[in-house]
Amino acid sequence: MTDLFSDYRLTIDGALVDAGKRIEVINPATEDLICTVPSAGFEQLNEAVAAAKRAYPAWRATPLAERQRMVAALGDAIEVHAEDFMRLLTMEQGKARAGAEWEIGGSVAWCRAIAEQSLEPELVEDGPERRVETLRVPLGVVGAITPWNFPLLLAIWKIAPALVTGNTMVLKPSPYTPLCTLKLGELAREIFPKGVLNILSGDDALGAAITSHPDIAKISFTGSTATGRKIMASAAGDLKRITLELGGNDPAIVLPDVDPKQAAKDIFWAAFQNSAQFCVAAKRVYIHNDVYDEVRDALVEYSSTVKIGDGAQQGTDLGPIQNRMQYEKVKDLLADTAALGVSVLTGGAASKGPGYFIPVTLVDNPPDDSRVVREEAFGPVLPLLRFSDIDDVVRRANGTEYGLAASVWSADTEKARAIAARIEAGTVWINEVHIFGPHIAFGGHKQSGMGVENALEGLAEYTNPQTIITKKVAV
Ligand code: NAD
Repeated sequence: MTDLFSDYRLTIDGALVDAGKRIEVINPATEDLICTVPSAGFEQLNEAVAAAKRAYPAWRATPLAERQRMVAALGDAIEVHAEDFMRLLTMEQGKARAGAEWEIGGSVAWCRAIAEQSLEPELVEDGPERRVETLRVPLGVVGAITPWNFPLLLAIWKIAPALVTGNTMVLKPSPYTPLCTLKLGELAREIFPKGVLNILSGDDALGAAITSHPDIAKISFTGSTATGRKIMASAAGDLKRITLELGGNDPAIVLPDVDPKQAAKDIFWAAFQNSAQFCVAAKRVYIHNDVYDEVRDALVEYSSTVKIGDGAQQGTDLGPIQNRMQYEKVKDLLADTAALGVSVLTGGAASKGPGYFIPVTLVDNPPDDSRVVREEAFGPVLPLLRFSDIDDVVRRANGTEYGLAASVWSADTEKARAIAARIEAGTVWINEVHIFGPHIAFGGHKQSGMGVENALEGLAEYTNPQTIITKKVAV
């Protein structure tokens, strides 16, 4: 086992392996170097894929109950090392301890719950002449690629269903947050047969090489829509299966019958959890004219109670932006927003540093065609928008290429459900947000993704249907 902040290795074919090239891992709260980790090259990718391919027949033939047991054991191992993961996650990702606890606890729970899922054969026909059954068979080697906002949980969302269904895997975390995932690889070595789960930290070029590798059958990707498009094009070369969980620009619609103070608090966390680096953060808040001023003022007031700082420190509610690239993007959006001439109610300018800190920024009713409304900020910059007509707000909410999630807030849940039914998004929450579960299908509509994760539908994404038709009369 490595020291918590040094000696990280790739996991290839059950062995811990180094690489000549290194990636620097930066603490976003201080901009200090935490450590360097190996940056896998194409040769190491080939070795990892070859190992996963070798391991596949025996893993596929391993009884389901055994595979399930090992995936649950991975959850147990995360639980045993929860405090290490807490330190790693708060330091490399920047998130506050409460968020890290949620992510680590979720990872344990997901391993255990997915380990109880299975896809039973479907008996389609059983007549005098023939028996027709559809089975779900694994695909082979899965290539998984994850982003930097929830590095541990989003890896588990891929590892658990892929391995339970009998696939083997090569997984690449984001170069910005490789530590938790490399540690996961070390723990996995003690649980799974060699080659079943290979972990390669590496840059974007390694990601691209995974998506075009001829011995990889499927890509499961979570990240930006721009990268998702490239992956879909690359995977077309040999018709790889794909699951894409991409970006979002989630609308929240606040009806006039809400309690403004409670709604403001709920909307605050819907928008700013994980410092708004959340694919399903509320990113545009449409507030009915009748309560706009009250909700807006309550939001500003609540914002002033929230503590921004180093996620590793007790008492911090929101951490920094995870990396300099994203920090610069958010600052650029702030500059564009300042030039609009609309009122910025709180925040508006990055703090001086060190650390990639952006204060909570609330923008008062910017135009619908401004960048702060149209783009996914992926940082704590939130436009508040007035509406007075339901048809109009539904049209505006749907007026985006994205369709990940949405929320509707109202004392009248029937009314809210009627609006939810008109929203073009994979998930619509009513009077709450960010409820996920191993049994709840999650996936984006439109350019927010393709396919789903979680639930039996998510499990099925790691399989091909295979129909066996048996003639009953002897030949
Ligand atoms: P990103 O697309 O830049 O990177 C994600 C991963 O893809 C990284 O591991 C990166 O190295 C790799 N990558 C980059 N270029 C690649 C290429 N050409 N081929 C293959 N892999 C490549 O995304 P990010 O900035 O890390 O994450 C932020 C984005 O992720 C946001 O848009 C957010 O909304 C989205 N996201 C979506 C979900 C979801 O479930 N829908 C969850 C979390 C984040």
